[in-house]
Amino acid sequence: MDYLFPPLQQAAVPIAGGTACFPVHRIYCVGRNYVEHAKEMGWTGREPPFFFMKPADAVLPVLAGSVGEMPYPPMTVNLHHEVELVVAIGRGGKNITSEEALSHIWGYAVGLDMTRRDLQAEAKDQGRPWCTAKGFDFSAPIGQIHRADTVQGIGQASISLNVNGQSRQDSDTGKLIWSLAEIIACLSELYTLQPGDLIFTGTPAGVAAVQRGDVLEASISGLSDLKIKMV
Ligand code: MN
Repeated sequence: MDYLFPPLQQAAVPIAGGTACFPVHRIYCVGRNYVEHAKEMGWTGREPPFFFMKPADAVLPVLAGSVGEMPYPPMTVNLHHEVELVVAIGRGGKNITSEEALSHIWGYAVGLDMTRRDLQAEAKDQGRPWCTAKGFDFSAPIGQIHRADTVQGIGQASISLNVNGQSRQDSDTGKLIWSLAEIIACLSELYTLQPGDLIFTGTPAGVAAVQRGDVLEASISGLSDLKIKMV
């Protein structure tokens, strides 16, 4: 096929213990999926899962043992961190049942759903979309993806985030309101899932602002740590 100009390079994330990269198709994100975080954001009761997206090329892949550099984005003075378990889809489908859902997962990674909280608050107030709050350049730092069959106990794993060595978020993936299987089942009714889709599954309580120069270290037991510096 002829293109007017060369297509941009495929967004991709390195695989732990392998040389091949995981090509990113779409980035789906789940809102308010831990009770304590939902409360800090004004949650009033059990609500169905809701979703938003980031562009595939918002990923900022960071190898284990190295420190990624995330440029502090323009048009915000309140950039927040949200540490999240990321599910990497290896087999697509639609109307996937929660019973079959886990078999569609290729692997897992630690991710950060970086958020312009001030723009998000304004969007909520005015009933506008969240795109500029959530889907900006470099808004999805992510560590190496681990094959699902090499990861034990991801459903009850500690999940934490330190900023400059101070604990900010500290929880357990067992506290997800909607399980990984339920999220995949729900999403696949709304969209045809494809190999290469990433799902950010929600953040626990403790979201807060970061500044230029801050070093963020995100961890989920069983996965490679994700370390970035705000520049
Ligand atoms: Mn989030």
